[in-house]
Amino acid sequence: MLSLLQGKIGPEAASRLVIPEVVQDPFLELEGTRLEVVEFGECEAKHIAALYLPSSKTLLSADLVYNNSHLYLQERHLESWLQRLEELSDFVRNRVSIIYPGHGSSAGPELIPQTRAYLEDFAEALKSGNASAAEQRMITKYPSYHVRQFLTAFSIPAYFPAKS
Ligand SMILES: [Zn+2]
Repeated sequence: MLSLLQGKIGPEAASRLVIPEVVQDPFLELEGTRLEVVEFGECEAKHIAALYLPSSKTLLSADLVYNNSHLYLQERHLESWLQRLEELSDFVRNRVSIIYPGHGSSAGPELIPQTRAYLEDFAEALKSGNASAAEQRMITKYPSYHVRQFLTAFSIPAYFPAKS
């Protein structure tokens, strides 16, 4: 699996695989800082667990939001992802000033509308009716975004499966 991803994603792929452990409580304690586990339903994946640090108004959003990176839409969760962003906006209000996204650098809550705009642009690009036109629209709109392979090797092929 890892080598498959490395093959498709290239140098921006992860270099090792970390096996997750099940967390028993809805919070963690790390060097005296309390981290609250905030669960969200289907968006990029079937289920997302974000981590909220109340003491520093920081959210580790996992793959709910990205920053300056193409979104991974292989699972075709465009609609549910938009819904999760609404829920995330509600959660973040008056609580969060820094978001560490699933991909890209940390920034403020403006990452939520930035991620929403990408999803809406992707939905619009799909209407062009074929893979290469849709891909070209997204690349023209987001020329400097990272992990372009998320778009070209995963998201576009998921919505335009090759005819066999
Ligand atoms: Zn990810």
